[in-house]
Amino acid sequence: MSEPEVTEYKGQCACGSVRFSYAHSKEAEPVFSVICHCLNCRRVNGSSPHLFGIPKDAFSITQGEDVMKTYDITDKFQRSFCSKCGVGVMQAPAGRGFVATFPTLFDEARQKFPKDVPDMFQVKGQVNCENAWSSVFIGSKNVAPRYRVFGTDPHEELIEDENPKHSML
Ligand SMILES: [Zn+2]
Ligand SMILES: [Zn+2]
Repeated sequence: MSEPEVTEYKGQCACGSVRFSYAHSKEAEPVFSVICHCLNCRRVNGSSPHLFGIPKDAFSITQGEDVMKTYDITDKFQRSFCSKCGVGVMQAPAGRGFVATFPTLFDEARQKFPKDVPDMFQVKGQVNCENAWSSVFIGSKNVAPRYRVFGTDPHEELIEDENPKHSML
C-alpha cells in the first residue's frame, strides 16, 4: 500500500517570527475557506476575515511558539497571535477538530496574484458563525453537516445549505 501523498504548505506572520505548516492530504482537506461576518471575527480582525479551516492534526507551529500569545475572546473562542508584529495566526474554537487560520499568511498566497492562488485557498462562501462555532458547525468531528451561508449579497436572506460537499466550508 502506498503512503498518502502529503503536500506541505507553509505560512508565517508579518515579521516571520512565527511560522507554521499545513500537511495537506486527501485525509486532511481544508475544513472551510470562508469569509465570516460574525461580530467576534470582525472585532478581532478589524473587518470580516477570510478564514481557512485546517484539521487540527494537520496544522503545526514550526517556529516561534514562544513568541505567540493566546487571548480568550470568549470561553469558546481563542485567538493566537505573534507578540512581535501582532498578526493573528489562528483562531481556535474550543473542542473542535480544526483551527482557523488565514489564507493570506501562506507563502502561496503571498507570492502570487489572487487568481493564481491554489483553489483550496479561494473563498468558497460567506458565513456568520454567530459567536458560537457550535451553532454552525454542528455535530461532527471536523466538518459541518450544514451551515448558514450568505450569497454574495450579505443582506440576502440566510439559507440553510445541506450539500455535503459544502460541509467542507
Ligand atoms: Zn510576527
Ligand atoms: Zn466568525
